[in-house]
Amino acid sequence: MVVAEDNQQETVITQIVSSSSACVPRSNYKRIATRNRLRFGGACFLTVAEAPYNGAMHFPVTRLRRLRRTEAMRSLVRETYLQPSQLIYPLFLCPGEGVRKPIGSMPGVFNLSIDEAVKEAAACARLGIGGLLLFGLPEAKDASGSGAYADDGIVQRGLRALKADAALKSLVMIADTCLCEYTSHGHCGPLAGEGADCTVDNDATLPLLAKTAVSQAQAGADIVAPSDMMDGRVGAIREALDEAGFAETPILSYAAKFASAFYGPFREGRRFHTADGRPSRLPDGLGESARSDARD
Ligand SMILES: [Zn+2]
Repeated sequence: MVVAEDNQQETVITQIVSSSSACVPRSNYKRIATRNRLRFGGACFLTVAEAPYNGAMHFPVTRLRRLRRTEAMRSLVRETYLQPSQLIYPLFLCPGEGVRKPIGSMPGVFNLSIDEAVKEAAACARLGIGGLLLFGLPEAKDASGSGAYADDGIVQRGLRALKADAALKSLVMIADTCLCEYTSHGHCGPLAGEGADCTVDNDATLPLLAKTAVSQAQAGADIVAPSDMMDGRVGAIREALDEAGFAETPILSYAAKFASAFYGPFREGRRFHTADGRPSRLPDGLGESARSDARD
């Protein structure tokens, strides 16, 4: 809808708004026009979906069902469209060749050796999927998770193979950045303390995560995705990426992860049956999750 200062086009706004609310003060829709105006080469547009939020009148003046009556009407006000290009497909890379091992809790999902992952990626590209998220199952694990930042680590080798295939150019390659798949104890970083006091050493984990991210970017990751929940990881990773010449590489943080059984299938996919990661996860609640979002 074109919106401008002249009377004729202002009427357009009035009509849109009154399809939801019969009576909207003139001052109100003028405010809408100012706030939601988008300019494209001199023309102004108002997205129809934004208009009905304003002019908060009550029933029966407002009948929200007016905008749901027909498919055409619903299409006009629909805000969310889901396309394959918006989806990210997880790949769980494992050592070996010709390996395609089903993950019981996620039917249709497999642990894949790199050669099989390349075939799976080709199917994703044909379907128009937007990106891949790579997790790794290393050959060996140790206390500091060194497989995560090894130049010949499973994800690094996988990235090189996927990036070398021209048929996969349309896929954004995202690397999960964490240590838990690579540590012998299954926590997201090296441990400190003994017995009941034993916990992940947050600050000692940061340089290792940063090293992992740089090594993934060097192997071709378009995005690095820290999933560890350590405080300060995004800053540490950003600094390391910038210093290594990857200032353009985005960080997709898992900002708010809750202590939840919903991670169960993923943990199986990563053959990860030791620590459950709960000490690093959020309790339920919007407040803590908002703080985590803000932290990252
Ligand atoms: Zn982790």
